Amino acid sequence: MGVVNIMIQYGRQDINQADIDAVVTVLRSDYLTQGATVPRFEINMASYCRVQHAVAVNSATSALHIACLALDLGPSDWLWTSPSTFVASSNCALFCGAKVDFVDIDPHTYNISIEHLSNKLARAEKDGTLPKIVVPVHLCGQSCDMAAIDLLSKQYGFKVIEDAAHAIGGKYKGELIGGCRYSDITIFSFHPVKIITTGEGGMALTNNQVLAERMQRYRSHGITSETSQMQARPLDEIWNYQQVSLGYNYRMTDIQAALGLSQMERLDEFVGKRHIIAQRYNEELASLPLKIPWQHPDTYSSYHLYPIRITLGEDKKTQRQVYDTLQFEGVNVNLHYIPVYRQPYYEMLGFKMGYCPAAEQYHKESLSIPIYPTLTDSEQRKVIHILHEALA
Ligand SMILES: *Cc1c(COP(=O)(O)O)cnc(C)c1O
Repeated sequence: MGVVNIMIQYGRQDINQADIDAVVTVLRSDYLTQGATVPRFEINMASYCRVQHAVAVNSATSALHIACLALDLGPSDWLWTSPSTFVASSNCALFCGAKVDFVDIDPHTYNISIEHLSNKLARAEKDGTLPKIVVPVHLCGQSCDMAAIDLLSKQYGFKVIEDAAHAIGGKYKGELIGGCRYSDITIFSFHPVKIITTGEGGMALTNNQVLAERMQRYRSHGITSETSQMQARPLDEIWNYQQVSLGYNYRMTDIQAALGLSQMERLDEFVGKRHIIAQRYNEELASLPLKIPWQHPDTYSSYHLYPIRITLGEDKKTQRQVYDTLQFEGVNVNLHYIPVYRQPYYEMLGFKMGYCPAAEQYHKESLSIPIYPTLTDSEQRKVIHILHEALA
């Protein structure tokens, strides 16, 4: 057998026989979609996160969209988020015709800066441009300062959607992310690079029953089959469902939910393995001229990503050189993220370079190196070795 030189990725899924069996069972059953497995996945997730309601959808992008719709985001409203995130965190506002603005990041956690947020809110209050929704993104799996955001939300009257696409299995002040103690809605992603996967998939969690019912309708055409949500009609016009608002087809299939349920069994194990890998990087990279991801003591990260920061200096290697070396040696690192407003589409909306200096600096210096449960010791040693060669 020849040696196949496979690239080491920055992240990948871990699928075992139990996952495959769970999917096959659904494939052989009567319901591939709209069966009993999606509700089971939702109930399991809600009980894991200690939250009242969970609404499964076909992606986290859809979850963000229905979350904004449920919170009545519309054309005259603003949604604020961090620029250091995936475009979906702000696109959800544009889907609703709303306006988007960005709050620069904290240079230590890379999450939304509370100082910038609070200054910007004070200015917006004077201008009458306060946001309706703020979307804190738990970058790399480390929670934002949710207690501070909660206080600001009460002071200024905005709603909070936690973008926890990276952060399932992580904790804040000892409680699992997803409990919505400091937010109206939390969303998860089950894309294969994330912590657990359903192929494509996402979930929206909330403790508010009205929001949960609205999200359930928005994910399925605006249709309800609950009599209490229907409009009263003459008796001969009783149908088993009514469309009461304009929704979408954002449903998750039972095939996906079966995979998600099975993956949940190993969720804590996955996060535990990610911690072991992160710990080894912390130790083995400590002597190099780079910055390892600082962790706030209130947080327990799910370590979706492990970004190193390569400080630019006259005689030091640049991010690009380290990137090229890793790539050449077969390690496929990635960059999370280009500030969203630097995307051509957002530049067309009027955003300019220099808008959020800390996010731009982070983008110039950071690289997400491989971290995922199936990363082997020898693969990780290889990554560490290349970094030592490139930077020592
Ligand atoms: C992956 C991701 C999303 C979107 O997730 P999908 O399930 O792919 O739609 C949203 N926000 C962040 C921060 C992400 O990383």
